[in-house]
Amino acid sequence: MPVERTAPREVEELHKYYEVYDTIGSGGFAKVKLGRHIQTGEKVAIKIMNKKDLGEDLPRVKVEIEAMKNLSHQHICRLYQVIESPTQIFMILEYCPGGELFDYIIAKDRLSEEETRVFFRQIVSAMAYVHSQGYAHRDLKPENLLIDGDHNLKLIDFGLCAKPKGGLGYELMTCCGSPAYAAPELIQGKAYIGSEADVWSMGVLLFALLCGYLPFDDDNCMVLYRKIMRGQYDNPSWLSTGSILLLNQMMQVDPKLRLAVQQLLEHPWVMKDYNSPVEWRSRQPLGHIDEDCITEMAVNMKRSRESTTALVKEWRYDRITATYLLLLSKKQRGKPVRLHTEPHVSEDAVSPRHGRSQTKKSLHFSDGDDAVILGSLDLCSDYIDDCPWVPVSRQGVREKTAGITADKRLASPLEKRCVVSPLPDRGQMSGQNHQERRRHKEHQQASENKENVGQQEKDVEIFALPPPRTPSSSKKNSRPKNVLTTPNQKVSNGTRSTPKAGGSGSKEVKRRAADSNESTNIEIIAFSPERRSRSLDMAGSGDSGKKRRGGRVFGSLERGLDKVITMLTPSKRRALRDNPRKIKALYNVTPTEQTNPDQVLNQILSVLPGKNVEFTQKGYTVKCRTWDDFGKVTMAFELEVCLLHRPEVVGVRRQRLKGDAWVYKRLVEDIFSTSSI
Ligand code: ADP
Repeated sequence: MPVERTAPREVEELHKYYEVYDTIGSGGFAKVKLGRHIQTGEKVAIKIMNKKDLGEDLPRVKVEIEAMKNLSHQHICRLYQVIESPTQIFMILEYCPGGELFDYIIAKDRLSEEETRVFFRQIVSAMAYVHSQGYAHRDLKPENLLIDGDHNLKLIDFGLCAKPKGGLGYELMTCCGSPAYAAPELIQGKAYIGSEADVWSMGVLLFALLCGYLPFDDDNCMVLYRKIMRGQYDNPSWLSTGSILLLNQMMQVDPKLRLAVQQLLEHPWVMKDYNSPVEWRSRQPLGHIDEDCITEMAVNMKRSRESTTALVKEWRYDRITATYLLLLSKKQRGKPVRLHTEPHVSEDAVSPRHGRSQTKKSLHFSDGDDAVILGSLDLCSDYIDDCPWVPVSRQGVREKTAGITADKRLASPLEKRCVVSPLPDRGQMSGQNHQERRRHKEHQQASENKENVGQQEKDVEIFALPPPRTPSSSKKNSRPKNVLTTPNQKVSNGTRSTPKAGGSGSKEVKRRAADSNESTNIEIIAFSPERRSRSLDMAGSGDSGKKRRGGRVFGSLERGLDKVITMLTPSKRRALRDNPRKIKALYNVTPTEQTNPDQVLNQILSVLPGKNVEFTQKGYTVKCRTWDDFGKVTMAFELEVCLLHRPEVVGVRRQRLKGDAWVYKRLVEDIFSTSSI
């Protein structure tokens, strides 16, 4: 008899109140999925973390949760509910459909001073509030600012924030954050004031908004540190005198000479065209009780208004808090303050297999191909792993944010930066300013390179750096199996067919296909040329010790998948011949001048191996990742070939899921440029 796994009660709670959909992002700690709160119908973001994977970073998550419970502001992503099971933590958050500010900047190349001002005022507003509550954020960057449905910014990722016991004037010691945004005093490992370090990061952020690139940047971490320490950067010609002055006042090496956030509220540059200081006080103060929401909840729960108010006022960040805050959010957007009937809360555990089932039809509001419908409770323990190409390993945990930690045991993103091969800065995403910028950067680099020679040993002593790890000490990290999920792709020594062509396969493919009658996914192995031998060892061939030549293996892959394809039922074969999605030209979609999606897909696929990008392809979606020399995933992103309406051309949607945003930008630009898109 099959043994049924019982999902923890907490996980049942998640499914009782929320529908769970696609993965919309992933960070160093978490996977974030789109969800819907059933009673209000409101969309939410569900941040999912596996406690085991978090390991000693678990306290960081607790810090984030505590901070978010204490912060309620129009430009800070709202926490609605926390669900904790013995193995997992789910944070239910305000959903920001506009994506990361980072993607917005790179899609537009750079922002005008006027648009920058709109966003910057919101950043100042959020930071003035954060500081007023005694917190320093310490990881400010455009990846941590999301855009909501009304095109307003929301600050996320409080995992590195600090609330000094004696107040924000007290010095901090922990060296953290993302290197390119870190203040000089921080990278030197000195004691520093959190709010002052935040202002430096805001300066870097402002520069990134106005220029579309970073003021301090280098693939060599020592060189990067030195640039930050000197605090010298070049102002491109398009910056106004006012912008240059403000940037200079924020990126002062001496923190005491830097502007304070309070001064930013009324700074002439910030006030221009507004004539009013930044409004930083919360429009949604904590503890405020809205009578309409209470009335609706009371009716729905068949309770008195008094007892409902008392329940809400406990602020337990449970389903009550979530329902109240989501109802309030509905009201604030002018929607009716209405709840659907309270889901039946049974005291008995619902059987994982026969619990409240969510039909595909009722849940599908995303038109993504691989929308994840997690109606079955026993899938919950697999949340973290259901996307095999973005493993959330303990190692990966610090990748995104714990940048320049002084913890000598850990590899930091600085190390990561150092092993990522430099990529040409070729602008393809929307390029009217790229020529100008490239010339500017080339000039910068030429003068820097001369002075960089012979500096590195000295730098090691100056900066709060982790010691370099030797590749051999880290090589034991086994890379996860590299599988390619494809409808009917032909892989043979670099040539690939489009989804409409024939297929190829391997023993592993056949085994997987046989194992899963229900799945139309066929997994085959993809290689970047220099990693072939390692990947082959993981292909489950049973003779991993033997050296084999790439050509023969590719041949067997093709034969294997051909067999699998012919074994499929007609409906499954149909599923393999998906057409590209028709979507609107959003800012994360690069339009091409081409009209044949297969050709565009082929162009992309053909250049990936040369860029050391490993990929899995499913229909017209290509999931990509890169690795460092220590076997760690440095970047994960998705490219999807799609059809645009106006003009009717092929576009490529791109989404970064993991890794340094600027390295991702350069890599995707390089892929597009090389594949002539
Ligand atoms: P981590 O703490 O692991 O670094 P983040 O909180 O930074 O994870 O989230 C990872 C990514 O998920 C973000 O960069 C963003 O793209 C996406 N994301 C996070 N929160 C939301 C949200 N509230 N709405 C939409 N997307 C989100």
